[in-house]
Order: sequence, then C-alpha cells, then structure tokens
Amino acid sequence: PQSVKDEVILPRYVRVNLLKSTVDDVIQTFIEESYHCILSREQADTKRKEARNADDICKIHANLLTTLEPHQFMCDVHLEDLLVFPPATDFHDHHLYKTGAIILQDKASCLPAYLLAPPPGSHVIDACAAPGNKTSHLAASLKNTGKVFAFDVDPKRVSTLSKMTALSGATNVEIINQDFLKVNPGEERFSNVRYILMDPSCSGSGIVSRLDHLTNDSQSDSTERLEGLAAIQAKLLGHALSFPHVERVVYSTCSVHQTENERVVLQVLASRTNFELELALPTWKNRGICVVDDNVPMETSLKTGSPDVSACLRAVPKEDCTNGFFVAVLKRKIMSAKQEQ
Ligand code: SAM
Repeated sequence: PQSVKDEVILPRYVRVNLLKSTVDDVIQTFIEESYHCILSREQADTKRKEARNADDICKIHANLLTTLEPHQFMCDVHLEDLLVFPPATDFHDHHLYKTGAIILQDKASCLPAYLLAPPPGSHVIDACAAPGNKTSHLAASLKNTGKVFAFDVDPKRVSTLSKMTALSGATNVEIINQDFLKVNPGEERFSNVRYILMDPSCSGSGIVSRLDHLTNDSQSDSTERLEGLAAIQAKLLGHALSFPHVERVVYSTCSVHQTENERVVLQVLASRTNFELELALPTWKNRGICVVDDNVPMETSLKTGSPDVSACLRAVPKEDCTNGFFVAVLKRKIMSAKQEQ
C-alpha cells in the first residue's frame, strides 16, 4: 500500500461557504486584515488553462504552495471556492469561521460534492453525512434550492451535523438519523432523487495527521478489517445505485487501500451494468490504480471488459498536498429504447 507516513505537512485549505458569502468578499476581508493574496481567482484560472496537462497543474499547485509565506494566501488552481493558506494558519477563532462564512476543509474532501455537481432545484441524498462538510457544500451547489436528504446512522454525529448545517445557513437540508441501508428506495419522497453522495466510514488510512504512533497500524489496517469495511462500503454503494431515478453517484473515501476503493467500485459495477464510470476531474493527475495490492488479487479488474478504474481520482498527499483520498463518479448509462426492453 501507498505510504502516507513520511512527513507531509498540509496547507490550510479554506472553503468559502457560498451560502453565507462570496469568494470576492472573503478575499477582501482577509486583505483588510493585512493578508496578501499572491494568486487571484483569474490568475489561478489562467495557470490551469495554460498548463500542458494534469501533471503540470499538479506541479504548479505544489510549487506555488512552497512560496506561501505567513499572512499570504492564494486561490486554488482547481476549485473556485477554495483559498489556500500556509500550514500553520489557525482560523478556529476567526470571525468568518465562527459565523460559518468559511469552512476549514481539506481540498480532497471538497472534491466529492464538486464532482457530484447537483444543479439548483435538484433532489440529492447525502447518505453518510455527519459531521456535514459535504452536506453544506451540496446545499451551496443547489444555491439553497431543491432538497438534500442527509442521513447518518450515529445519533451523536447527527447532532453535530444539525449544528453544522444550521451554522452553514443551509435551509434545504432534511437531516435523518437512520441507517441508509434501511431506507426504501421506492419511497415517494425520494422519487425525484437524481444525485447521491456516498462517503462511508473507512479506515481513514489517507489522513495525514492521523496519530499513527497511538495505534498499532498493522492491526488497524489488517486485511480482515479492510475486508469488513469493504463489504459494508459495497453494500452502501449498491444500495445508492438501486434508487430508481438516480443518475449520478459519487463514491469517496479517505483511504489509500484499493480494497476500500477501486475494488469496491469494480465489485459493485460488476452486478450493476446499467452504471459506468465517468472520468473524474480530467485536470487532476493521480488516478485510480489497478495493480495487485493489499495482499489480495484484483481478480475482478482482470476480467476483460471491466471498467477502467483510471477514470477514478486519487489524491496523493506528497504530490497533491492533501489527505490521501479516493473519488469515483458513477453515472447511469444512457440506454436505447431497445436495450431498455
Ligand atoms: N460525509 C461526511 C463529511 O464530509 O462531513 C463524513 C462522513 S464519515 C466518513 C462516515 C459517516 O457515515 C459517519 O458519520 C458514520 O456514522 C456514517 N455511517 C456509517 N454507516 C452508515 C449507514 N449504514 N447509514 C448511514 N450513515 C452511516
């Protein structure tokens, strides 16, 4: 498995909560507080457009980060609503954080809602929602219209989800404390759901700040544990795909293990041939990998005609300067009338 243990210090990513403010207003506030913006939104867009390929964009991002000094920040080269500050920056006491105008969220964790991209007015399910960073991002994508059904099985985490949702200013979110596996996809109230975000519990092996010295790593990431997690992840993803009108599902984890990532996606798609992988964020360098890993042969992937997992996205801490992360975008295939019969 990929190692994320060698010293990687992540920058401080700040997502502007578009339900409460605008990118321009937040930038202006920081400038008034004597922060210096070294790369404007327009300059970041130009850098991305002028880059030769995704590899280049990855390098540009990493190089710019090395130039960031205290009290400087830049606009992110991929995500419009994201600002990047030097690693030691602490905004937990900042008024923009306390009022919910900014959300302290790692760049990789902003990708799932960005890639699901539900348009205003649509109905969305956030199947494993707590503590709710992606829920408010989805609500912002909907511009507070339509509906987000936000499920979580854990009552304590649901209470955090409620608080965070209220602080974010989202008014289109219905929070439901329920096991998503027990939700009936045929229920009338879900009949307009076209978008589902599936961000289930995982090993967390991609989290750079994970205190590995406090855990016995070989035990916490044992094959047995990963297989157990993967079995639940596959069930959850399969359940999401069973919603009758769902068109687009994003599956994400903060795990580096193929067992929880590519293998789950391939296993589920093997029996759901009406869905396919979409190329997730073509401007992103690191892709899903298809080699034997985690001591288990990837027999599913070796079958001819199985989906190409390089359509999935991987965030690699050392290169992408984020936590280790995996995102797959699954979309319903467009069937001809004949095929549907
Ligand atoms: N999406 C969240 C965010 O961005 O803030 C993080 C989700 S966290 C990785 C996984 C969550 O899934 C946990 O809060 C856990 O309680 C919830 N969960 C696990 N199994 C579930 C199930 N069967 N139904 C609903 N929620 C579940």
